[in-house]
Amino acid sequence: MGFPEDAYRQYRLAMRMIQLEARTSAVCAWTRFTEGRVRRLFRAYLRSANRPKLARHRGQSPRDASVFFRTPQLRAEAGGLAAYYSLLGLLPSDPSQRAARALPTVPRGETLCYAFELYTMTVKSPRISFEHAILLLTALARGEEIALQPCRRCSALIIIDRLSQLLDQCLYCNPSLAVVPTANEVSTGTAVRDHTSMPRQLALFEPAFGDGSSVSD
Ligand SMILES: [Zn+2]
Repeated sequence: MGFPEDAYRQYRLAMRMIQLEARTSAVCAWTRFTEGRVRRLFRAYLRSANRPKLARHRGQSPRDASVFFRTPQLRAEAGGLAAYYSLLGLLPSDPSQRAARALPTVPRGETLCYAFELYTMTVKSPRISFEHAILLLTALARGEEIALQPCRRCSALIIIDRLSQLLDQCLYCNPSLAVVPTANEVSTGTAVRDHTSMPRQLALFEPAFGDGSSVSD
């Protein structure tokens, strides 16, 4: 299939993703290489000289986008990374399940790596792994839980929780939002932060599976 040039780009992308510590399944999805081939590439990489130390992640890729609201730093960094996605044309104009499924291609994989590399170069101690960067892009392309949009007050581009009307402001405009749980955390009871000091904020919450009014627009 394809021209040798395409095969070379696939190979280059696979090596780049391996160096960014992507899981085998992710490398397969974006390069269309088989699992066996990716594993062979990884072993070859380990044998190569002067390679930087590399962590190998096992198990499933991360799936829960509420992780980006866990701390103010994570939310700010996710916003910065998502802004790169937007600038580089990675975000579909019409987010949907379908758009998210159609995302993995070799050219977009190259752009994704580039965006992530820009992010790691501009943040002193990056907290978002490459696997979480893929999750961020996929969740934004799906557009169900999170979105990149201007802060309601100051217009800074931020990540918002689409299921919670509280998280549509940036943390500079409303520092108290740092402790507000995401709608997903409320529905699953997995909030890891202490928000007991914010009873007034909690009382404002929309039901997690309501009529969808907080999701529209
Ligand atoms: Zn703001």
